[in-house]
Amino acid sequence: MKTKWLYYPVMALFMLLAGCDARHESAGASALVLEGRTMGTFWRVSLADVDASRKEALQKAVQQRLDQDDRELSTWKADSVLSRFNQYRGNDPQPVSDNMADIVTVALRIGQKTQGKMDITIGPLVNLWGFGPVKQPDKTPTPAQIAAARALVGLQHLRVIQRSEGAYLQKDLPDLYVDLSTMGEGFATDHLARLMEEEGIHNYLVSVGGAVLTRGKNSEGKPWRVAIQKPTDKENAVQAIVDLQGHGISTSGSYRNYYELNGKRISHVIDPTTGEPIQHRLVSATVIATTALEADGWDTGLMVLGEEKAKELALREKLAVYLIVKQGDGFTSWMSPQFKAFILPDRE
Ligand code: FAD
Repeated sequence: MKTKWLYYPVMALFMLLAGCDARHESAGASALVLEGRTMGTFWRVSLADVDASRKEALQKAVQQRLDQDDRELSTWKADSVLSRFNQYRGNDPQPVSDNMADIVTVALRIGQKTQGKMDITIGPLVNLWGFGPVKQPDKTPTPAQIAAARALVGLQHLRVIQRSEGAYLQKDLPDLYVDLSTMGEGFATDHLARLMEEEGIHNYLVSVGGAVLTRGKNSEGKPWRVAIQKPTDKENAVQAIVDLQGHGISTSGSYRNYYELNGKRISHVIDPTTGEPIQHRLVSATVIATTALEADGWDTGLMVLGEEKAKELALREKLAVYLIVKQGDGFTSWMSPQFKAFILPDRE
């Protein structure tokens, strides 16, 4: 018996973030809110001091920018730039955009720092466990299937080459399958922030899926407030509220995107070392970083590492990290010293 709990939960998280923001905005009447869909999830832009007459043009510009990212980074579209790279069976360097080279470069760095736990070549395992475009399995994958998929995974098989004429990606395994799902939302969020700046807008909250970035002030002239959700799939309750101070934030969690197979909960976060969905007590990792892309890469790596190793890495790398851990029937939380600086004092 399977329960599909995939994209509605993403919406729930999004609505919480939006709700927190909207509650705050409701007192200041002039906020302009744009919303839409992309990458199998939702995007939202809140603008503090922009005339409503710009709404239609901005809505179009945002959607166009996101559609462009989707056409480039999606593994759900067979003809995206990334899918064409995945389908290519040779080992010659393939030309890619600067965008693609940037995201892969950051991913390889974070992958290395997380001891390979954040691994964007994880695609064969993601598909095997049914979290990619391939449908969910009816049976738990066998050890042989897991081993076969694991043999196709490894950051050492992928590299970015920068040449004077442009950037290239190269793989040394014909079946390497790059999956940027874990970082695509963060990347797109940063892209929206850049779009706002190009439009001369400097007070905004932009969000794609679970990645958020804020800059400036809200329509009341106060810091934007962003909520971290309590780790449950049943309610939209707030665990903590932060002022991002111009940074990006992203949460990776095992409690929202999962399905049940033979009574067992199958999380969409997969440990590349074992080839299996994570099972430990760490239920969510939230990271604040200078870009939403960085935050979106680190959060998944920390989730895979588990509570103790995630704490060690956060302290060693001086990351702003908030962890929620299952404890008996409830939860406990831990934050790094860098994260404390972002927590709004009225709520911890
Ligand atoms: P995160 O925790 O940020 O990432 C988890 C995801 O990363 C997993 O779902 C898996 O894909 C991958 N992953 C798992 N383990 C690891 C690991 N150890 N290291 C690295 N990565 C790992 N969904 C649709 O249903 N339809 C679509 O058309 C669609 N299009 C998309 C297009 C793009 C460009 C992107 C980026 C995503 C798309 N998605 C689509 C996927 C969807 O929105 C994802 O659920 C989302 O990207 C996962 O983000 P998250 O914040 O929930 O999880």
